[in-house]
Amino acid sequence: MSSLPYPPRDLSSANTLGLPCVAEHFAAPESLAALQAALVEARRQGWPLTLLGGGSNLILPERLPGLVIRPAMARWWLEEGEGEAVRVHAEAGVVWHDLVMALAGRGLWGTENLALIPGSCGAAPIQNIGAYGVELCEVLEAVEVVSLADGGERWMTAEACAFAYRDSIFKGALDGQVVITRLVLRLSRTPRPRLGYGDLAERAGEQPTPLRVAEAVCAIRREKLPDPAVLGNAGSFFKNPVVAAVQAERLLALHPEMPHFPQPDGRVKLAAGWLIDQCGLKGWREGRFGVHERQALVLVHFGGGSAAELLTFAARVAGRVAERFGVELEREPRLAGERS
Ligand SMILES: Cc1cc2nc3c(=O)[nH]c(=O)nc-3n(C[C@H](O)[C@H](O)[C@H](O)COP(=O)(O)OP(=O)(O)OC[C@H]3O[C@@H](n4cnc5c(N)ncnc54)[C@H](O)[C@@H]3O)c2cc1C
Repeated sequence: MSSLPYPPRDLSSANTLGLPCVAEHFAAPESLAALQAALVEARRQGWPLTLLGGGSNLILPERLPGLVIRPAMARWWLEEGEGEAVRVHAEAGVVWHDLVMALAGRGLWGTENLALIPGSCGAAPIQNIGAYGVELCEVLEAVEVVSLADGGERWMTAEACAFAYRDSIFKGALDGQVVITRLVLRLSRTPRPRLGYGDLAERAGEQPTPLRVAEAVCAIRREKLPDPAVLGNAGSFFKNPVVAAVQAERLLALHPEMPHFPQPDGRVKLAAGWLIDQCGLKGWREGRFGVHERQALVLVHFGGGSAAELLTFAARVAGRVAERFGVELEREPRLAGERS
């Protein structure tokens, strides 16, 4: 008896929130050809498709219909060139943090501030991952994508990806249209430390190397953020809201101590964690979900809860912020199956 080529799969431990989930069909293609074959089968069967990486920015429902594809092509290599720049090719299934540490260990500058962000390389461009004053788009040169509709491959420049704060074309016009299969990054042999954020400069020491900076970032993150292996979470649950200057001025008149960051377009970015904290919600728990006790931007799952309960809890948190400050919070993790 032949076994099903795309059997069901329990994904409860494949998402960092630890939400219970079973995929109707599952594939982890290790090559482009295997990915294209899975896409052909999904089309033939009329299965809806869900793409999965490390599951660190996804809210999974209890049952995912159709085919879940987790790209498992996991090679990376350096393209040595003349001069100070080095190109790095990384396939979708490479673990982002492992790549960052390997590059930092080789003395290459560019991704060290993005250490310890969970997830896969394939998902990194989706929300243009960012931390400690650096965003992926600053080092990304191009991505290879495969069309979900016909399996065709093509390259896109960083410019074509329309990167913005926690945003890209993959959450907009290309949402649900392509699988990202490979990244090309441009790193530098010439020192260019970015240490302006918090106490990173102090922690990285007097002679920072990419590895020292990456290790300092890891140490800070471990102090501040809950480890998903211990307490389910998806990192920041809300984006930092960007509001009109006039609204920011009104809020600052009432709360002069409010953190605020003027943007190039004249609007002002506020700190969602501060707004939640000011509502007295840090450490607040209701049922199986809560606001993390050290970082108000992170919602945590104590176990046994569902996606629906999480969304209800998150709506309460956002509702309290809207009531007190008149600011709408937008969710950062994506709901599997949801299209923007
Ligand atoms: C503790 C913690 C800390 C975090 N800190 C940060 C942070 O500092 N900065 C930050 O930006 N993010 C942070 N995140 C969020 C998360 O790590 C990133 O968004 C990461 O890039 C998600 O990768 P993933 O592989 O887990 O993606 P998943 O959660 O599996 O998927 C995310 C989205 O990408 C899609 N997708 C996945 N793979 C592909 C692919 N190959 N092609 C096309 N679409 C794909 C999925 O369908 C989904 O829509 C944090 C999360 C946690 C849990």
